[in-house]
Amino acid sequence: MHQQRRVSLAGSNERGLDSEVQLDRTAFEPTAPSSSHHRRLGHLHEAQNAHVELASDHLAADRHGELHVVDSEPLFSGRLFELIVHLYYACIHSPPMQGELVMTVTAGTPIELVEGVYATLPERVAAGRERFGRPLTLTEKILLNHLYDPAQAIERGGTYNDFHPDRVAMQDATAQMALLQFMTAGLPTTLVPSTVHCDHLISAKVGAKIDLGVAIDTNREVYDFLRSVSAKYGIGFWGPGSGIIHQVVLEHYAFPGGMMIGTDSHTPNAGGLGMVAIGVGGADAVDVMTGFPFNVRWPKVIGVKLTGALSGWSSPKDVILEVARVLTVEGGTGAIVEYYGSGADTISATGKATICNMGAEIGATCSVFGYDDNLAQYLKATGREAIADAADKVAEHLRPDDGAVYDQIIEIDLDALKPLINGPHSPDRANRIGAAVGAEARANDWPLDISAALIGSCTNSSYEDITRAASIARQASARGLTVKTPLLVSPGSEQIRATIERDGLIADLEAIGATVLANACGPCIGQWDRPADANNKPNTIVNSFNRNFPKRNDGSALTLSFVTSPDTVVALALSGQLDFDPSIDTITAPDGTEVVLNAPMGEVLPSQGYDPGKDTFTAPPVDGSGVSVEVSPTSDRLQLLEAFTPWDGQDYHALPVLMKAQGKCTTDHISAAGKWLKYRGHLENISGNLFLGAVNAYNQADGSEYPVGVGKDTLGGADDTYPNLAKKYSEAGVRWVAIGDRNYGEGSSREHAAMEPRFRGGVVIITRSFARIHETNLKKQGLVPLTFADPATYDLVGQDDRINVLDLPPVPGRNVRCQIVKPDGSTVDFEGVHTFSPEQVEWFRAGSALNVVRKKVADAAG
Ligand code: SF4
Repeated sequence: MHQQRRVSLAGSNERGLDSEVQLDRTAFEPTAPSSSHHRRLGHLHEAQNAHVELASDHLAADRHGELHVVDSEPLFSGRLFELIVHLYYACIHSPPMQGELVMTVTAGTPIELVEGVYATLPERVAAGRERFGRPLTLTEKILLNHLYDPAQAIERGGTYNDFHPDRVAMQDATAQMALLQFMTAGLPTTLVPSTVHCDHLISAKVGAKIDLGVAIDTNREVYDFLRSVSAKYGIGFWGPGSGIIHQVVLEHYAFPGGMMIGTDSHTPNAGGLGMVAIGVGGADAVDVMTGFPFNVRWPKVIGVKLTGALSGWSSPKDVILEVARVLTVEGGTGAIVEYYGSGADTISATGKATICNMGAEIGATCSVFGYDDNLAQYLKATGREAIADAADKVAEHLRPDDGAVYDQIIEIDLDALKPLINGPHSPDRANRIGAAVGAEARANDWPLDISAALIGSCTNSSYEDITRAASIARQASARGLTVKTPLLVSPGSEQIRATIERDGLIADLEAIGATVLANACGPCIGQWDRPADANNKPNTIVNSFNRNFPKRNDGSALTLSFVTSPDTVVALALSGQLDFDPSIDTITAPDGTEVVLNAPMGEVLPSQGYDPGKDTFTAPPVDGSGVSVEVSPTSDRLQLLEAFTPWDGQDYHALPVLMKAQGKCTTDHISAAGKWLKYRGHLENISGNLFLGAVNAYNQADGSEYPVGVGKDTLGGADDTYPNLAKKYSEAGVRWVAIGDRNYGEGSSREHAAMEPRFRGGVVIITRSFARIHETNLKKQGLVPLTFADPATYDLVGQDDRINVLDLPPVPGRNVRCQIVKPDGSTVDFEGVHTFSPEQVEWFRAGSALNVVRKKVADAAG
């Protein structure tokens, strides 16, 4: 007997929220949700009248009538994938019934999504404790609850595991290539709620209004593209002026116990709100948006035990500056840093976010704090009472267990923590403010006069930060003091800007001479149009940002950048001197009296509530299929991607060696940043930087070394740059191989370093060893990454040799047979080791991982 029945989607994202699937069979037995896969169904778009076929072996409705996937079959293994895709199409092609509620990606995380995450949390935590036979860290609880397959082997710092993140966030610079790739997948919408944030492309010069207008004009093409592609694929769009991605995420999307990825390294900012939030490259974001799991090494967990409470001039920024001092820029690599202890509960949510934000500077996968009243208060103040209420119900699972085991423990007594200022050139180069940094400066010839002071950014622009800074400003202006160096303020979001303007805090800062910039990254990412006479000589700047590598802020290697708290920045700006210590030094007022600055006083949350400011969010339409994505064929910044061609079924014979790298060949050597950043959305143009940083292992005909990025044209032409050679080979239809040394492809996970070789005809990369993420990226783009079974074979590859790669496709568990063919026709056999899984072999056959998705989508559509 057929019977119509309506069930709501469980654990849904915004689009599934409150929508319903109409089932026409009764085979759904009540059952508890038993798999995290059930959240996948939350991605259904406009679910009215969806027709579910023979789903009883995969789907079930629980006693509340909620729909769940109840098996543990991987998403892309056959019928489950097809079922979901079928549902997608069924839903999308069914227009909403008149008067029915239609949900889309909104300016916040819906409570249903959060409740879906919390629904499985107690059960997963209990299972985890049993499995490991010990109490759990918060990190473990969150990761266990987002595991793709709970049965996967887990070893801290050892295994790579698959996860289902709850959200994806992308900033405008990285979103371009990520979305261009997503477009080629053929999906009608992203499978995980995603947002785009326009923050990186706004250059600071004069002040907020003018700078924003100029940016909108200069970047119109990129913004139009991001806006239209967001509308088409169900992505929330935060336009220019909205604020910095991490601040907007903290205010709107982060929630305790959640997991997200973001295409920016400071995504961990959301750890302040108890979320495992990881910065990734665009390729990872594309994976997740297209329904692949997010794969990452199960992290080690570094515990930072905080006791006491901050006071005086010490602030949350000093906590992370101290942690950076202890761990150095590499000490957090492969680990999640988890803050706990009584001191953690004394720090506001936004203060915690500051600490997690800058965890990127110690190489940590991310950082996280447990749920406490500070988080609850922040959620409520930002209009998320329902999430706070839901978190209260599972609060015990949103904090580490007593006795949780950490791989390393750092203890910090907040009572004893003194203000620090770290730099220049490295965020772990810690100095106590005042005499200590002054002595360092004198010993190293760093200018003591400060040439600019900057506060704000995603790291330090909370209401609390600005009220503390303004409290110092008010003291100063009351005594007639103004800053002795330019003081620039970058509000982290439109909400912060509007609130601090309403509450008179901008006026307080302007009264001492501050200039307020646009709600954007600006000087933090080098988008700072500084007069040449300010930075064409050694000069010292102080800021409340997070990174201080040479050239980071203004493009000048002569600028010495120090990172510290906003409080210290304002005090130093008033004194004009790097070695000023506001707790003991004085500033002379215009009337000749000496001014002692009292320690800053802040308000954690605005007593009148936040002012949301201008509405800068654009939700995607329910049906984006009619939206056309605007990319001009003549654009030099954007270019639609064409799918890479599938493997032709033939072995690779006589591949010329385009490039043999000696020593380090990071993703920066393969695909440089700097001026090439503007081409991040144009594969052909950015391919003009391919291998420009690579050091040629061969010598020129006269025995001298090649310039960096230059090689021999083994097809018979003159020596040329690698990008030019690659273009020439590609246009001649000649496929090629590149040879790498050890740890090839380390550094940033940018996918351009894998896409460019593929675009220019590269088919195989053989190295002594790979950085893992880059190796995976190469496989995703359809290349064959191999390592020499005998590393000494690297030395046998000559400049004019050809390479054969035989018995393709790679067979999991078996080395690939290869040959070096010498110019005289003799051959040297060698074996190439590969790490292809059966699924990855399909990527190779199809031409790329995205082609696999595209085919499945097309097949499912019938
Ligand atoms: S403010 Fe700076 S650190 Fe933050 S997202 Fe922008 S560029 Fe990155």
